[in-house]
Amino acid sequence: MEKVTEIFGSMVFDDRVMKARLSEKVYKSLKRTIDRGTKLDSSVADAVASAMKDWAIEKGATHYTHWFQPETGLTAEKHDSFITPAPDGRVIMDFSGKELVKGEPDASSFPSGGLRATFEARGYTAWDPTSYAFIKDGTLYIPTAFCSYTGEALDKKVPLLRSMEAINKQALRILKLFGNDKVRSIKTSVGPEQEYFLVDREMWKQRKDLVMTGRTLFGAMPPKGQEMDDHYFGSIKPRVAEYMADLDRELWKLGIYAKTKHNEVAPAQHELAPIYDTTNIAADHNQLTMEVMQKVALRHNLVCLLHEKPFAGVNGSGKHNNWSMSTDSGENLLSPGDTPQENAQFLLFLAAVIKAVDDYQDLLRLSVATAGNDHRLGANEAPPAVISIFLGNELTEILESIEQDVPYGGTKKEKMQLGVDVLPKFSKDTTDRNRTSPFAFTGNKFEFRMLGSSNSISCANIHLNAAVAEVLRQFADELEGVSDFHAALHDLIRKTIHDHKRIIFNGNGYDDAWIAEAEKRGLMNLKTTADAMPHLCDEKNVKMLTAHGIFTEPELYSRRDIMLENYTKTVNIEANTMIDMARKEILPAVLHFTADTAKQAAEKKQFAPNAACAYEQHLVEQLSELTDKMDSATVALEDSVAKLRSIADVLEASAFVRDTLLPQMAELRQAADAAEALTAETYYPFPAYDKLLFGV
Ligand code: ADP
Ligand code: MG
Repeated sequence: MEKVTEIFGSMVFDDRVMKARLSEKVYKSLKRTIDRGTKLDSSVADAVASAMKDWAIEKGATHYTHWFQPETGLTAEKHDSFITPAPDGRVIMDFSGKELVKGEPDASSFPSGGLRATFEARGYTAWDPTSYAFIKDGTLYIPTAFCSYTGEALDKKVPLLRSMEAINKQALRILKLFGNDKVRSIKTSVGPEQEYFLVDREMWKQRKDLVMTGRTLFGAMPPKGQEMDDHYFGSIKPRVAEYMADLDRELWKLGIYAKTKHNEVAPAQHELAPIYDTTNIAADHNQLTMEVMQKVALRHNLVCLLHEKPFAGVNGSGKHNNWSMSTDSGENLLSPGDTPQENAQFLLFLAAVIKAVDDYQDLLRLSVATAGNDHRLGANEAPPAVISIFLGNELTEILESIEQDVPYGGTKKEKMQLGVDVLPKFSKDTTDRNRTSPFAFTGNKFEFRMLGSSNSISCANIHLNAAVAEVLRQFADELEGVSDFHAALHDLIRKTIHDHKRIIFNGNGYDDAWIAEAEKRGLMNLKTTADAMPHLCDEKNVKMLTAHGIFTEPELYSRRDIMLENYTKTVNIEANTMIDMARKEILPAVLHFTADTAKQAAEKKQFAPNAACAYEQHLVEQLSELTDKMDSATVALEDSVAKLRSIADVLEASAFVRDTLLPQMAELRQAADAAEALTAETYYPFPAYDKLLFGV
C-alpha cells in the first residue's frame, strides 16, 4: 500500500503543484489572488489553465467541470471534455483561462426562487481560486460560485464568501482598537463532524422508502435498539472498517484531512471528523466528503445514509460545526490568551458571539431547518429547537462577576478587571462535558450542534458569520473614538452580558423543564421548518443581512421560498411513498397473513371441533382492525396530497404540510407498525429494522 504522505493530496492542484508547474511570476500573481482576493488578469488565468490541464491529463483526466453548490441538493456539475478539433481532423486537448474562470451551465433546472425569471435567463459559474481544483473520476473539478448575470447569488458559496468578508471587515476594526494593526485579515474556520449510517445494499434495495426518501417511513422497533449503549465504544466491524479505510484513502487523495472515525451511539451509525480548515474550503470539502462517502459505500455493497432520521426510535445523524475566528498569523480570537490585554480582547469576542446568538436565534435555527432535521431537533437525542449557549460554570461565573461587579469564586476570589487581570485557562475538559447544548463553547471554539447530517454547512456559517459581523460592527461603532478605551470596553461587556445572559444555559438541554424555562426567558422555540423559515424575511433580518452585503432583498425572498418548497416537496414525496407502500406492499402482506391465519384456524376446527382457536381469532380481529385503520389513514393522506396540489402559496403549503400531512403520516405509520409487529416476518415484503440495523 502506498504511504499516506504520498497519496495525500495526490489528486489536488494544490500549492505544491502550483509552485512546481507555474512560472514564478504567474505563481505569485495567483497567490495574491488567493490570499488577498486581487483580480486575476487574463494572461495569468491562461497560464494557470494550461498548467492545470497538463497536470490533469497526466493524471488521466479527459473532462473538466465547474463544480458548484446549488441552493438545494448536494452539488452540481456539468462535464465538458478538453477536446477541441484541430483543422486537420485531429483533436487537441485544450483549456483556456476563459474556460477556467467562467462557465455557463444550463442553469434552468436549478431552483432560483424566481430570481432568474425576473432578471436573466442564464447564470454563470465563477472560479473560486481559494479552494483548490481536484480530479475525481477522470474529471478536473473546478470549485466555483454560481450567480445570475445581474450578480444575484444562485448558490450557497457566494453568500458564504460574502459573510466571511463581512466578519473580516468588522473584526479588523475591533483588532485595531486593541492596537493590533499588523493583522491583515481574519478568517473563520470550521471543522465539521459528520455522522452517517451504513446499511446493506441488498436490503436497502428492497425498501422503497429508503430508496425514494432516504429514510424509513415504516418500521416496528426491533427487540434491541440503542439502549445497551454498546455500539459507541464497540469495536468496528470488519466490513465497516474496510469501508472506513477505503474512504480515508479516497478523501486523502482529494486533500481532505479525514482524521477521526468511530462508531456512534445508534447501531449502524458512525462518524467522520476532518481537521478544521477555512470555512469555504471546509464547506467544499464537506460536500465532497458526503459524495465520496456514498460512492465508496457502493463498492462495499453498502449504502451510506446521510438522512437526519433514517430510523424512528434510534438516534438520528447530525453534524457538529466547530467554528472559530483567527488572524492571518494564526492567532485564534476565541482563545483566552495569556496576557490581560489578550483576555480583554477574548472577552469582547466572546460577548459578541453571545449577543449575536441571542439577537439572531431565528437565523441560526432556520439555517439548519429542513424536513429531515425537524425529526431530530427537540427529539431528546439532538439539541432542542431552542437555541442556547453552553459556556461551562467557570466562564459563566467570570461573566457574572463582571456583570455584577462582584468577586468570582474561581481561584482568585477577586473582582475581574478587564485589561488588568488574567483569566484562568479553560481546558477542553471543563468546557465540553455538556453534549446536549445546541451551541457550546469548547475551550477555543464554538460548536454549533444543530446541523443535520445532510445540511450544507454553508447555510449555518453564512448566518453565524453574519450575526457575529453585525455585533462586531455595533461594538466597533461604539468603541471607536472613545477617550478611555478600557472603561468603555468594560461597560460594553458588562451591558452585553446583562442584556443577553438569558441565552446562556449550562444545564441539560434534553430536559422538558428547560423548554418551559426557555419560554419564560423569552427564547424562541421554532419547532419546524415551516415555523422557522419565514423569519428569514423578518424586517430586522433583512436589514442586517442586506446592510452587510450578504444577501439582497430579492435573494432573501427567493431563498425562503426555495427552502419552504423543498420542505413541502420532500414531505409530499414521503407521503406518496407511504401511500404506495401501504397499498401495494403492507396491506397485501397483512391481509395475506390474516387470511392464512383464519384459514389455518378453520382447518384446525375441522380437525379438532372443540379447539377454541382464541389466539387465531384475537390475532385476526386485531389485524383486521389495523388494516381498516391503515386504509382510512391512507385514504385521508391521499385526500391531503390532492389538496396540497391545489395550494399555490408556499407559506400556506408548508403550514398545511406541518399541520395536516405530517400528523396523518404519523397515524398511518402507527397502524402499519402495529400490524408489522403482529405479522409473521416471512409475509413482509421488505427487511425489518433488526435486519437493517444489525445486518452489516
Ligand atoms: P469532539 O470532542 O467534539 O470530537 P474535537 O476536539 O475532536 O471534538 O474536534 C472536533 C472538530 O473540531 C475537529 O474537526 C477539529 O479539527 C475541530 N477544531 C479543533 N479546533 C478548532 C478550531 N480552533 N476552529 C475550528 N475547528 C476546530
Ligand atoms: Mg463534537
